[in-house]
Amino acid sequence: MLSKSFFKKIDNWSTIAQSVLYPPTCFICEQQGHNGLDLCLQCFKELNPARYSCLICDIKLPAESSLCGRCLKNPPSFDQVITLYRYKGLAQHLIQSLKFQSKHSCARTLGQLMAHHFKSLNKNPDALIAVPLHPKRLRERGFNQCDLIAQHIHHELGIPLIHNQLKRIINTQSQVSLTAKERQKNLKNAFRYLPTHDIKTIALIDDVVTTGSTANEIAKTLKKQGVQRVEIWAFARA
Ligand SMILES: [Zn+2]
Ligand SMILES: [Zn+2]
Repeated sequence: MLSKSFFKKIDNWSTIAQSVLYPPTCFICEQQGHNGLDLCLQCFKELNPARYSCLICDIKLPAESSLCGRCLKNPPSFDQVITLYRYKGLAQHLIQSLKFQSKHSCARTLGQLMAHHFKSLNKNPDALIAVPLHPKRLRERGFNQCDLIAQHIHHELGIPLIHNQLKRIINTQSQVSLTAKERQKNLKNAFRYLPTHDIKTIALIDDVVTTGSTANEIAKTLKKQGVQRVEIWAFARA
């Protein structure tokens, strides 16, 4: 049988070969990439994290304070949302290029930046799960951007990535024009989780968290099946 270290070596070689054949190049300005990313240092600096945010849902707060009013009044089913940047400018551009122009190389950059961040936070959940698309939406788009990002995080951090156990069983209408209450109703029972392993802590991988309604409904579904802690890891927070 071939050893794990053999595959690790192959993996390292292929990473080296890739970086020689396709050296990291900034997809905004085409300068040389910084730190193995497809972003140069100057463009990278345009990404901005929030100064103050809620410790549970990560929504931006005007001043230093621990929780937002909504989480105080009505604590969500997830334990914590952790995002890297605000959903504007370059962060928004990267996510939209991946989602709507199918620029798959963006998934690598988002995954690398996220992996780096969660590694620095010493995060080690039992498993990663990508926010699923309904099969009909998946056929239309051809790929699930959250799954692509999750694959890169799995590759970088070695945390198991679980497929096909969390499903979106209702093709919900677009949430864009809905109020928070309507979103909740729209998403009710939209997901199903059928675990095959005993998993206690899960990081749910999302590209952008907007109101947190989807994350909340998924966390509710996971916790009904015995998951004890659900964190939402996303690239950006609207
Ligand atoms: Zn650049
Ligand atoms: Zn909050």
